[in-house]
Amino acid sequence: MFIEIEDLKPEPLQVHHVFPIEEIKFAHDDAALNAPIAADFMLTHRDRDLRVDGTVETAIRFRCSRCMKEFSRPFSASFDLDYLPQPKWTTEDAEIELHDGDMDVAYYDGIAFDVNLLVLEQIELAMPMQFTCREDCKGLCYKCGADLNEAACLCGSEEPDSRMSVLLEYKNKKVDK
Ligand SMILES: [Zn+2]
Ligand SMILES: [Zn+2]
Repeated sequence: MFIEIEDLKPEPLQVHHVFPIEEIKFAHDDAALNAPIAADFMLTHRDRDLRVDGTVETAIRFRCSRCMKEFSRPFSASFDLDYLPQPKWTTEDAEIELHDGDMDVAYYDGIAFDVNLLVLEQIELAMPMQFTCREDCKGLCYKCGADLNEAACLCGSEEPDSRMSVLLEYKNKKVDK
């Protein structure tokens, strides 16, 4: 979906658009989109300088990195961004601009605003680094593979406390000398 800047009226434009999953090319090793993507935002502009302010909502399906189960969860991202027409930089200008570095300014071609790209970028930015079903997911036992959220297995009880084993080692070394 493109918004032609030439066609914009002076008033802010309210955009509601629902993208089918396959229209947003989200690619991630550990997660996939699991519901149509609803974009809801206000586009205001001064000449070709744009501001977009709103939200993207969908659901993601992911595998918990600890217990390995699959989950689906509502997912949303909100944004408030300025888009400016891509300036024709000389190398010198580019350096100055980079040092100025306003993170909330992005660039577009100044002709048509690509809503799909906005939606994709906002989803990618809001993705967590690690997917866990819940913050305190206990994961799987590294020995027997039991899901420790469901029941404690017996493997754990045989393990000496790791701090204790360091102490024991230390003692043994002393005895050796
Ligand atoms: Zn989990
Ligand atoms: Zn176990």
